[in-house]
Amino acid sequence: MEAPNDVLWHAAAPEAPNAPNAEDPPALEGAHEAEVAVVGGGITGLSTALHLAEAGTNVALLEGACIAWGASGRNAGVVAPNFAGADPEAVVARLGPERGERLNTLVGESGDLLFGLVRRHAIDCEAEQTGFVQPAHAPSAVPALRRRAEQWHARGKTVQFLERDAIAELTGVTCFAAGWMDAAGGHIQPVKYTRGLAAAARRAGAAVFAQTPVERITQDGGGWRLSTPRGSVRAARVVLATNAYAGRLWPRLARSIIPLVIHQAATAPVDAATARRILPGRQAVTDTGGHPFSFRFDGDNRLISGAVAAWPWGARERMSRYIARELWRRLDLPAVPAIEFIWSGTAAITTDFLPRIFRAAPGVYAGIGCNGRGLAFSTALGRVLADIAVDAGHDSPLTPQDLAPLTAHWLVRRAPAVVIPWRRLRDRSAARRQG
Ligand SMILES: Cc1cc2nc3c(=O)[nH]c(=O)nc-3n(C[C@H](O)[C@H](O)[C@H](O)COP(=O)(O)OP(=O)(O)OC[C@H]3O[C@@H](n4cnc5c(N)ncnc54)[C@H](O)[C@@H]3O)c2cc1C
Repeated sequence: MEAPNDVLWHAAAPEAPNAPNAEDPPALEGAHEAEVAVVGGGITGLSTALHLAEAGTNVALLEGACIAWGASGRNAGVVAPNFAGADPEAVVARLGPERGERLNTLVGESGDLLFGLVRRHAIDCEAEQTGFVQPAHAPSAVPALRRRAEQWHARGKTVQFLERDAIAELTGVTCFAAGWMDAAGGHIQPVKYTRGLAAAARRAGAAVFAQTPVERITQDGGGWRLSTPRGSVRAARVVLATNAYAGRLWPRLARSIIPLVIHQAATAPVDAATARRILPGRQAVTDTGGHPFSFRFDGDNRLISGAVAAWPWGARERMSRYIARELWRRLDLPAVPAIEFIWSGTAAITTDFLPRIFRAAPGVYAGIGCNGRGLAFSTALGRVLADIAVDAGHDSPLTPQDLAPLTAHWLVRRAPAVVIPWRRLRDRSAARRQG
């Protein structure tokens, strides 16, 4: 399957067969052996393969389409090394002090891990570690944001709470009551980053195959056989890094998360005055709304933003108009901006907004559920999965758990049709009531 052309990141990073490290990996042919087989060529799978190969493990990665075909190539490129829907103390309350704090550390350090890999492997991906900013969508959200900043500060992160004037100066817009900044965040061009991970994994010795959908995984002696259209891989252990795209390969895994379709849009490059006014420090911004509003500039000064459609019919056109209007209204732009790219992708959401490592079968592990906050965390998750794949007893910050398909998944997966309009209404009335 080809790269999706409507995605800015794929369109702006066309395959360049002669460029070093950019060549797309071959399709698998014939019978192969590996210690570990990884399914999925997104950030989770490639980080797993990279860390395994660097540790000297014989690893083969199989991607059904092109590298970064899934969420890893379709996101907003915002590096936010914190939780989408939880605070460190809530994580401790849920997982206990030991596991909870270890997960906090893993998430908290994931931004530095990502930008560190970019530097170490010289990945050319427009990486800017300028900070991740989260403003309050309404004044009622300010106390919780203050606590969030305090909790991360207490755990040694470089964060800053920003009062109304400070957030206005930082963002260039006056609609936010306050905010906080995580200095370890920023943004990247996600397709270039994911391809860079693939190149680094191959240089480290991983066998990476694209255009190779795994059709079946069956037990074979003490290990597993992964069957593909023109070949197979026999491996002692398997890592499923298929995220929300798990499909029919492992149905119980697909039923363990809620798939959420998110639209992303890129405007035409903005004029010089707007580029100077908005985000002069070039941070990435996502507010606290239940239906979050996000914005950042890419390398060409296009504004990147996104939204979730309640229902799929006509969503592309509707979301394009909605995102353009929101950017105009909230950022005080001189006119409604032209949208030049609009695309969608599917994120894997869990009921408590925390990621999971599942033990799908003996020796088969799955890392899933980054809840739309997975660029930095999927990178860290890959490192943990690599450790577990070589040592099942590895003491991981995320304890592998048995697969737990959600009850009435056929119904739960439709929840966004109700939840999204309700959240949008709630955000608007909170902002109106107190603005
Ligand atoms: C629209 C959108 C915007 C987002 N924005 C952000 C953001 O700004 N910041 C952030 O931190 N996070 C964001 N996220 C989340 C982030 O993109 C994901 O958490 C992350 O990319 C997940 O990576 P992954 O490798 O686990 O999965 P994916 O990138 O989805 O990769 C899964 C891969 O598995 C492959 N696959 C599936 N089945 C098979 C099979 N049978 N055989 C072979 N291959 C198979 C698929 O083709 C796919 O390439 C966003 C997500 C979406 C959808």
